[in-house]
Amino acid sequence: MMKIISALKRLNRLDLIVAISSSFLNKTALLRREASGTTEAEAQGDIILVYDKFFRCKLTMQKYILLHELGHVFQNMNDISILDLMDKNFAVFEYKFSGNAMEGFAEAFAVYLDSPNELKKRYLEQFKIMKNWVGNGAVYKKWVGKALKILKDLPYGQLERIK
Ligand SMILES: [Zn+2]
Repeated sequence: MMKIISALKRLNRLDLIVAISSSFLNKTALLRREASGTTEAEAQGDIILVYDKFFRCKLTMQKYILLHELGHVFQNMNDISILDLMDKNFAVFEYKFSGNAMEGFAEAFAVYLDSPNELKKRYLEQFKIMKNWVGNGAVYKKWVGKALKILKDLPYGQLERIK
């Protein structure tokens, strides 16, 4: 992992990713509520689709789900594929050994913002990378707070931009 980090630093790509991530929420990350869906929520490009199942989750879980989906949007919105830049060892928790780096990244993103000490304790390398890319993550937490309010009254099919 350290080899990858130093390679990234040489290419100055870490700086690029930070620049994109801190600004992408102003232009993108849209929300849409849909009735049918087998899961709680999913990300397609810059849109987070939220299904009825989502509303049967507790509030803390709803927050976590939105953070996870934002992690996918973060991946999707960075021109450089984050996953191309790292090996699949980046993945955390149950994704660590499944090789599902996309899900592993989204989980690391969500855990970093939801309970950073948990990620720091168990996956220090991933924690450091997240800190580099996401900073204190205030912009994402704020986004989730607004999204939860908007979702309560969001009609099905309506695309909502959160400001
Ligand atoms: Zn996911």
